[in-house]
Amino acid sequence: MRLGDVADGLTRGAESLQDTISQAFFEPVIRLGVTGLSRAGKTVFITSLVANLLNRGRMPGLRAAADGAISTAFLQPQPDDMVPRFAYEDHLAALTGPAPHWPESTRSVSELRLSLRVQPGGLLAGLSGPRTVHLDIVDYPGEWLLDLGLLDQGFADWSRATLARLANRPEAAAYLALAEGAPALDSWSEPDAQALARAFTDYLQAARKAGYSDLAPGRFLLPGDLDGSPALTFAPLPPGPSRRGSLPREMARRYDAYRRNVVKPFFRDHFSRLDRQIVLVDVLGAIHSGPRAVEDLRQALADILSAFRPGRNAFLAQLFLGRRIDRILFAATKADHLHHAQHDQLAAIMGALVEDARARADFAGARTGAMAIAALRATTEDSLRHDGRDLNVVRGVLRASGKRAALHPGALPDDPARLLAPARQGAGAWLDGEFSIMDFAPQEARLKPGEGPPHIRLDRAAEFLIGDRL
Ligand code: GDP
Repeated sequence: MRLGDVADGLTRGAESLQDTISQAFFEPVIRLGVTGLSRAGKTVFITSLVANLLNRGRMPGLRAAADGAISTAFLQPQPDDMVPRFAYEDHLAALTGPAPHWPESTRSVSELRLSLRVQPGGLLAGLSGPRTVHLDIVDYPGEWLLDLGLLDQGFADWSRATLARLANRPEAAAYLALAEGAPALDSWSEPDAQALARAFTDYLQAARKAGYSDLAPGRFLLPGDLDGSPALTFAPLPPGPSRRGSLPREMARRYDAYRRNVVKPFFRDHFSRLDRQIVLVDVLGAIHSGPRAVEDLRQALADILSAFRPGRNAFLAQLFLGRRIDRILFAATKADHLHHAQHDQLAAIMGALVEDARARADFAGARTGAMAIAALRATTEDSLRHDGRDLNVVRGVLRASGKRAALHPGALPDDPARLLAPARQGAGAWLDGEFSIMDFAPQEARLKPGEGPPHIRLDRAAEFLIGDRL
């Protein structure tokens, strides 16, 4: 064991001891992780959740809010000085200000502490006064969880697996052509390394646009302040000799540096300290993109979810040291694109997408749930007469043109297998017709005092995630 490992272990031990003491004697802390792939809806979710916990008029499904147990809620300085603060005020102003628009998305890890004054109910009600429960919300890109897979693979294995996936993707053609010559590069040069890393990042960007979700290494698309650093200047290479001083040898070294200096610290400093987790998933977006995107999403979710089975990875098991994330909610976001008559179908598809991963290991005993939510409702429901029958639609304002439009996205099947089976079998298009979504802007909010922004089932999600601790 290296000295660094020992020191890391000691810090974590001391920290968890501190957490335990403060939980037992002082003020309980719930650390809630919010993750999901890029554009899944993390920023909007956190902003609306916090606004709706501060003003609880639209939270009847959160028991402690409905029965008045929460007397007040307020923002406090967060406990971690070195983690950027979630820009709640800016995001709320974007969503609910005079010209409402969607806020800037998650690009890195950030944190916010919301504290709730709660009067204990039940047997304890008469015995103790109100207590304060701190909710530390930690926002981080789901792409970073995909990096866990890198810890199990050396550079050669990772290269082989990645290039095999790229082989049939037109988006990767330019990168593959460039990479072919790389093993022969006997002496390393920075411009060669940069050209390869850039071409690989271009591929990842194109793959994301095409609806793919397997976009590791996670920092290539969301580099933050590591942009341009050697730890991000590598790319998968075809097999070949790896002599001292050659380009392949240096690439392998940088891959290891990425794992050691980027991947491990994230899991150690952020992930391993979470108690509860919500995984947001843009299921409707994937269905809209087609069967290939749905199958790819299913696989990416399986990879993401393996992070919630600490036993699977020796490094993670050591970090968790008997602690665990004990509740995980999978939420299909943007459900306001659908009339409520279709919400159950969306929740069922969400559940089915993670079913394989759940069946494999039940996430070490964590309680899991699947739901369809909209953190910010941008539409209203209506029905239209069309071809002699009533059609359920939602109405909203289109983001691009500012015009009002009605959307009937298409019917989701009652049985999720009707979508997931053809996706698994590699179907090119949906047999039962198209499924569309629209890019709606947030609606002008006329909030009454005591009310947060309009949403769908955000209160139920909050009840699942933190209700038992209030
Ligand atoms: P992040 O990358 O996970 O932080 O994603 P964001 O929270 O920034 O959301 C990405 C985009 O999804 C937003 O810009 C909106 O266009 C859309 N979106 C997110 N949440 C909702 C929602 O509740 N309803 C609707 N209609 N669109 C949403």
